[in-house]
Amino acid sequence: MKWRIGEVTVAKIVELEVTGGSRFILPQATPEAIIPIEWLRPDFADERGRLRMSIHALVVETPSRRIVVDTCLGNDKANRRIPTWNNLQTSFLGDLAAAGYGRETIDTVICTHLHVDHVGWNTMLVEDQWVPTFPKARYLMGRIEFTHWISQHEREDMSAVLADSVTPVREAGLVDLVETDHRICDEVNLVPTPGHTPGHVSVRIASLGEEALITGDFMHHPCQIAHPGWSSTADSDPVEARLTRERSLTHLGNTPVLVIGTHFAGRTAGHVVRDGDAYRLAE
Ligand SMILES: [Zn+2]
Repeated sequence: MKWRIGEVTVAKIVELEVTGGSRFILPQATPEAIIPIEWLRPDFADERGRLRMSIHALVVETPSRRIVVDTCLGNDKANRRIPTWNNLQTSFLGDLAAAGYGRETIDTVICTHLHVDHVGWNTMLVEDQWVPTFPKARYLMGRIEFTHWISQHEREDMSAVLADSVTPVREAGLVDLVETDHRICDEVNLVPTPGHTPGHVSVRIASLGEEALITGDFMHHPCQIAHPGWSSTADSDPVEARLTRERSLTHLGNTPVLVIGTHFAGRTAGHVVRDGDAYRLAE
């Protein structure tokens, strides 16, 4: 799946897609609350009101750069809180190469934040060592985000993630700590969208008068476009997360920006348009 924004292309490389089992992330998204939101079907929910979600990476290719935004869960990882995220053996790297993006050709990796499902393929296991998957890339991590998680390194759910997916690229000298409005190149810059995590960023793409926004996790699922007040249990500051969603949706609803969701399944992208008191994701 691929989109074009002026001279930039964005390609989706899927690691996992699941239907159901996501109530722990969005407790207010009950089947009874989801079924009335008809536009969620079939891409984002099924007939029974179960959410469809995706974990994928987005490859952003500009005239000068080849960027991977968020690196999913990764293979061979252990000590993950969610049992099915342990010891994965997916074809992600092969799929990335088959799409024309060999891992040695990536020059930039952006982590929108440092949660487990956004940093996994930062590294891969080679002879019992975690080595950088993208050896020729600069890995951009938010300075605020990095500092926050390093200070939380004793949290049980983060220590393994930092040890196998963040520290090895840092020790290899590949990490650049950047501000939340950092510009990567003419067409791509970061946008601060805090609340899900303290230093969370989204990725803005603009070229030849066209614009797109890669969400990261300020929205986990398109049902939050209809219900911006629904916070995710993973939001570190639910109030700030809601304010970020409301502010962002107001902006997106008034401008022709292609919204590309980091966990949006199916068609993954669309335009935010007004729908009564709230919004929906149109084509
Ligand atoms: Zn996530």
